[in-house]
Amino acid sequence: MSRLIVLVLLVVLAVWLIRRALRASTRGRDAQAKPPGEIGELVRCARCGVHLPRAEAHLAGGLLYCGEEHARLGGGER
Ligand SMILES: [Zn+2]
Repeated sequence: MSRLIVLVLLVVLAVWLIRRALRASTRGRDAQAKPPGEIGELVRCARCGVHLPRAEAHLAGGLLYCGEEHARLGGGER
């Protein structure tokens, strides 16, 4: 019985990986209109706490920010 569950999980994982690979190959075209929830990992601005896609986050001092402004101001304080 548990072997069946493992099999189903493997199939789901395989389908997910294939869909991800297909999406990556057409990423250039889809970059303009990404549906919400398909944009990948969300990160939190260390300054104001807003959530945004990792691709749009600014990295400064090992922390992620929502924009250059907050990256310059830094996080944690306040
Ligand atoms: Zn911010």
